[in-house]
Amino acid sequence: MKVKDGIIGFIVGDALGVPVEFVSRSIIEKNHVVDMNEYGTFHQPKGTWSDDTSMTLATMASIVNKNRIDYSDIMDEFLEWILKDKYTNSPDGMFDIGSTTNEALLNYHNGASALKSGCKGERDNGNGSLMRILPLAYINDINYKIVENVSALTHAHKRSKIACVLYVEIARSMLENDLTIEEHVKLACNKIKEYYKGSEELVHFHKIFNNNLKDLSGKGYVIYTFECVIHSLMTTDNYKDAVLKAVNIGGDTDTNAAICGGLAGIYYGYDSIPIDWINEINRIDEVLSLCERYEAFCDESQ
Ligand SMILES: [Mg+2]
Repeated sequence: MKVKDGIIGFIVGDALGVPVEFVSRSIIEKNHVVDMNEYGTFHQPKGTWSDDTSMTLATMASIVNKNRIDYSDIMDEFLEWILKDKYTNSPDGMFDIGSTTNEALLNYHNGASALKSGCKGERDNGNGSLMRILPLAYINDINYKIVENVSALTHAHKRSKIACVLYVEIARSMLENDLTIEEHVKLACNKIKEYYKGSEELVHFHKIFNNNLKDLSGKGYVIYTFECVIHSLMTTDNYKDAVLKAVNIGGDTDTNAAICGGLAGIYYGYDSIPIDWINEINRIDEVLSLCERYEAFCDESQ
């Protein structure tokens, strides 16, 4: 099964980063994360996932239930998460949400249509749609417009949409081609540069396009997250080191490690993910069952 490679890789990365989310790099440098920990920033038990995973699972569940991408239904499932703690594995239920996501869901709750709910401002370019877009990479006939629309449910600015398309394109390359990580990234970047040719947004991706990733921030801006993810993948040669590298950059550690872990899981495979870490994830059996149902949907949609 391919879906669990990326999705479990993603969830384990999320859980690895939760205890140190928002911790500065200077503190992390003195206390390097080397294992799955508990408590920390949100005082959660070991193996607790956060909003990144909840919204990813909500997206998968909606697509499986509807047997298609139904934008309103995805938003309905997001509301089930924030209002009823669905898709959480924490004893506290939902404990973390980004401000742009929160605003968009409020817009939808107050009657805006799904595709009119997302925030469009330049400041609405946190990593909140990038962190839930991975499931779309498994759909064979997925096109850029659909990826953009799924981003726009919460994050409707062009930069966030392009970031989601680039991420899905890298993941698809890993699913389809036998190449090095650097080659996958380059191939995807070339497609994006061609597709969005002339867009003034492309300049924001130049460090990724040019593999010039030295001064990393790790903070929750979609571009900083992407840079952190690509750097972590390109400077390591296995799943564990890649996600630990993403966490130890600091900042938005859970999202950075989750997004990195999704690609690392696809590239290195499920068996490369430390089984001790997988076993720490509460409700993992339900996730694996959803992965199976999602894979069946993807196979049927070919
Ligand atoms: Mg999170």
